[in-house]
Amino acid sequence: VLSAAQDSDFFYLVHQVTDGTAMSEAQDFDFFYFVQQWPGSYCDTNQSCCYPTTGKPPSDFGIHGLWPNYKNGTYPSYCDPDYPFDESKISDLISSLQENWASLSCPSNNGSTFWAHEWEKHGTCSESVLDQHGYFEAALDLKSRVGLLQILQSAGINPDGGFYSLSSIRSAIRNGIGYTPGIECNVDEEGNSQLYQIYVCVDTSGSELIECPVFPNGKCKSSVEFPSF
Ligand code: 5GP
Ligand code: 5GP
Ligand code: 5GP
Repeated sequence: VLSAAQDSDFFYLVHQVTDGTAMSEAQDFDFFYFVQQWPGSYCDTNQSCCYPTTGKPPSDFGIHGLWPNYKNGTYPSYCDPDYPFDESKISDLISSLQENWASLSCPSNNGSTFWAHEWEKHGTCSESVLDQHGYFEAALDLKSRVGLLQILQSAGINPDGGFYSLSSIRSAIRNGIGYTPGIECNVDEEGNSQLYQIYVCVDTSGSELIECPVFPNGKCKSSVEFPSF
């Protein structure tokens, strides 16, 4: 038989657990990183790349992913093995995904494995906000609103193999979208630091840009190459 004190402790704990579960189902992340990659910088590394079976992608930034994140810089992943990628749910988006979310990994492929990976690793962690169709639609919509190449070119920063200061790239994007981006570099075959990925932060609805609560470790030198593609 429970004493009165044990009894009330029991109910208090149940209440907390119930409350925590309800909250984590409502939204178990703090914001999204919307990450775009420069294809030229994926392809000119030691690892090289493979053009998609559907053809060389446009000379433009492509989507890498829409990644749920925590404000402390950590992130959830692979949140729901029971909600695997199902291409039939996004058949209306395939041609737009091929153009805007191309996969450049080898062997040459049509993008499905990249989209499946992004959905299963990242998308399942925001499924309380965006179902699979909503997730890919939100990323495509963000891409159409965050025109990075045009913003950079308007500031005289062109994919011409030249070197640009990291601060000029950051300022151009901040002026273009109203928020400071995260900028990530990788290294080309000659060892040059180059512009690889640009992160912008998005609210938990997946639709509004916000200031980033935390920035990724971008690994850029103060002067970075912007290779052609
Ligand atoms: P890398 O080690 O190449 O920076 O990242 C490898 C993978 O880890 C990325 O493709 C992505 O899935 C994940 N990742 C790296 N950094 C972050 C981050 O800050 N937030 C999230 N959500 N995922 C990340
Ligand atoms: P992350 O785990 O960082 O979200 O995504 C990286 C994974 O996606 C790696 O396994 C990588 O091989 C695969 N992948 C397929 N296509 C691409 C691509 O075009 N760019 C990048 N960065 N990763 C790709
Ligand atoms: P994911 O593997 O996890 O296969 O990729 C691991 C790392 O290698 C990621 O930073 C990804 O961007 C990179 N990577 C994977 N496959 C390729 C590739 O075919 N070419 C290039 N350049 N990088 C790749």
